[in-house]
Amino acid sequence: MRCVYCKNMCVKKGRYKTIQRYQCKHCKRYQQKHYSKFVIPAYKYDWVLKLNNECCGIRSIGRLLQIAKTSVQRVIERIAEKIQRPVYEEENQSYEVDELRTYCGNKKNESWIIYAINKVTGKVIDFIVGRRTKLNIEQVISSVLKLNPKRIYTDGLNSYLSLIPKDKHKVFQYCTNKIERHNLTMRTHLKRLARKTICFTKNDEMLENCMKLYCFS
Ligand SMILES: [Zn+2]
Repeated sequence: MRCVYCKNMCVKKGRYKTIQRYQCKHCKRYQQKHYSKFVIPAYKYDWVLKLNNECCGIRSIGRLLQIAKTSVQRVIERIAEKIQRPVYEEENQSYEVDELRTYCGNKKNESWIIYAINKVTGKVIDFIVGRRTKLNIEQVISSVLKLNPKRIYTDGLNSYLSLIPKDKHKVFQYCTNKIERHNLTMRTHLKRLARKTICFTKNDEMLENCMKLYCFS
């Protein structure tokens, strides 16, 4: 066969598993006649989604589905790309807003998941991953305010006071019970949010992708 790089002649040189390998006599590069492209079957995409939401880390998904760790990451990214943030058509409902603390890389590098849920249905309206700044909180609050809410219940964080109109804002001790319980559910269902394990997020974008898979699919 001819070399794919410099078009000189190749000679047979060794095997990889059962496939014959060739080496170019001129540029010394190894190659084979045909390369088979490995495509991850569609049913494994569904399983990655299911396992991600059942407290499996990236490595354990890879072991269970027998695909590489990097392939799992790529699959998660692809699924997350396709997921659209849902558009809710509801009015006059009550919402709870809270922040969940986690970290990215090491414990000094804090990142927060700020999100809002419907007080009755428990559906996640919107979330954002990042620092607990007023700008980030404002994004979540604004998508709640678009739904023309009856009440918004939050904890006593100062940023909320200036962002939510006073007649719609409520702060008292047990008003965020539902979302605090939701925090615990997320910590059991997403491996990277679990406490007292050695699993943690290494990349904020991946955390956001996994949250998308969990909340909006
Ligand atoms: Zn060559």
